[in-house]
Amino acid sequence: MTLQGKVAIVTGASRGIGREIALALAGEGAAVAINYRHDDNAAGEVLEKIQEAGGKGLLVKADVTSFSDCEGLVKATLDQFNRIDILINNAGLRRDNLLALMKPDDWDIVVDTNMKGVFNCCKAVLKPLLKQKSGGTIINMSSIAGIAGNSGQANYAAAKAGVIAFTKSLARELGKRNITVNAIAPGFIETEMTAELPPELKENALSRIALRRFGKPEEVAEAVLFLAKNGGYITGTVINVDGGISL
Ligand code: NAD
Repeated sequence: MTLQGKVAIVTGASRGIGREIALALAGEGAAVAINYRHDDNAAGEVLEKIQEAGGKGLLVKADVTSFSDCEGLVKATLDQFNRIDILINNAGLRRDNLLALMKPDDWDIVVDTNMKGVFNCCKAVLKPLLKQKSGGTIINMSSIAGIAGNSGQANYAAAKAGVIAFTKSLARELGKRNITVNAIAPGFIETEMTAELPPELKENALSRIALRRFGKPEEVAEAVLFLAKNGGYITGTVINVDGGISL
């Protein structure tokens, strides 16, 4: 187990991609702080699964849009495990609509969660990471929409593009401290986030994916695991996990 002795925080880890990331990191021996916002039961199941397999975990309820919640998430992790090595900023949501129909609140919540949430967690984790003086790994969940844009997702695409620029800036700032900062840009992954999209939109997406299938949350988790395990000389980059939809 290559992450034995490491401690990771995964935001939005009660379901979907975040859940698989938490399980994958724990499977490699990392102790994992499972952040979630509402669903105590789903988060509890992730913890149970980790513990059943002999791993270590911790549940931390926190809303990533709140800086004080993020500070609380970092403190709870340090109180339990005494260190932090890996931060996975995965929490996200979408409120899709054409701009003509998009409400200012739809903009605010998407930018606050998907972009400011990344800032909040990175800022909260920075002091302890620097104090430890042993480097670290930050991985931020962007999206193909943040690279190519997407009709009906101006808010989401803008936030995810912001995540990429933020990632590159932080990689430049923290490289000399041996902290790597990378982003992952998933394409169309089968989770609850994409489950309720209209069938015609899904069919259209499928026809544009080179591999002719949607991705699985575990396949995004594998990219995260790769960076967490082997990513010592990879920083400031974006890894597309998209089946070739962006070709
Ligand atoms: P999901 O909706 O299944 O999971 C997202 C999780 O984030 C949920 O558990 C949710 O409760 C949590 N969350 C939302 N707001 C939060 C907040 N304020 N504080 C804490 N947690 C919060 O979605 P998913 O498909 O698993 O997506 C995970 C990440 O991957 C997101 O950032 C998403 O934008 C990104 N992504 C997903 C896809 C896809 O096709 N599913 C594609 C590209 C990018």
